[in-house]
Amino acid sequence: MQITKHKVVKIHYTLTDDDGEVIDTSEGGEPLEYLHGVGGIIPGLESVLEGKSAGDQFKIHVEPEDAYGDHDEELLHEVERSQFEGMDELELGMQFQVDTDDGPMVVTVVEITDETVTVDGNHELAGVALNFDVTVGEIRDATPEEIDHGHAHGEGCHEH
Ligand code: ZN
Repeated sequence: MQITKHKVVKIHYTLTDDDGEVIDTSEGGEPLEYLHGVGGIIPGLESVLEGKSAGDQFKIHVEPEDAYGDHDEELLHEVERSQFEGMDELELGMQFQVDTDDGPMVVTVVEITDETVTVDGNHELAGVALNFDVTVGEIRDATPEEIDHGHAHGEGCHEH
């Protein structure tokens, strides 16, 4: 069976940046299971998986525009430090969810001064080129429910 739209695919993968630093890996854990062809994984990886079969192995380099996008300066916001009053501690790298005109967004604290705090709404991998080392695992047809939901349902219970 080959990977085409609406197959549920398991992949084993190791993700590294261009310095060879491991960002994420399925090694020692469960493979990633996803529904193919619906944009559930980054476009640069999904397009290469198309047509592959179980057991296929490949390595790819994905530029930011085909991964989590470029780093967008517009998503950096400087806010008054006083707005964070009541928070026990404020540290670089802290993440929290804020409500914006575009809906909830996860932001990361990237700069703290006496008066201001700068938060960044970019995905933490925005602007980062990614290297995937992938082995294709099991491939099966998606169930109508999975197609309806737009994602794979793993083994075990699933309620929604
Ligand atoms: Zn579902």
